[in-house]
Amino acid sequence: MWKAAFPGSFDPPTLGHLDIIRRAARTFDGLLVVVAENRQKKYLFSAEERADMMRSLASDCANVSVTVCDSLIVDFLKKEGIRLLVRGVRGVDDFSYEFELSMMYKALDPSIETLFMTTDPEYFVLRSSSIKEIAAFRGNVSEMVPPLVAEALAKKYSAG
Ligand code: ADP
Repeated sequence: MWKAAFPGSFDPPTLGHLDIIRRAARTFDGLLVVVAENRQKKYLFSAEERADMMRSLASDCANVSVTVCDSLIVDFLKKEGIRLLVRGVRGVDDFSYEFELSMMYKALDPSIETLFMTTDPEYFVLRSSSIKEIAAFRGNVSEMVPPLVAEALAKKYSAG
């Protein structure tokens, strides 16, 4: 059974993340989307909000499940019995960051294999941080995130 994990902040999930999820779900027997909860990071959406959005967005993929992780990802994967880790790359800047991260994972647990999936050209400019900035200025993000996320962003920023 080739099960892989796709960890990330997903704050919020974008069409780029979903594209990686769908392609990884077709590539592996199972995919666990791991929503990271890092106390040192500041998020717009809580871990449960991000996980709930992901669950709804991936509900049509039978082999995808979603969970929250607030510990070291390598320890978490060991507990889950998963050693394949998928990360998406948009370009060379992403790659150099992701490459370093994968070296760190290897140092912590040599059995972990990080597999890089290149972005779809349609989504390569999509980045959660820029999308939040646009949404904060009430800009149109409907081409960048699914409707459910666009609504959640509008609600967050109108509340703030
Ligand atoms: P991080 O996990 O670094 O906080 P994100 O939650 O934004 O960042 O992203 C999770 C994973 O999805 C990372 O591997 C990131 O490179 C990848 N990713 C983000 N946006 C895209 C995109 N538009 N296309 C492909 N991969 C992406």
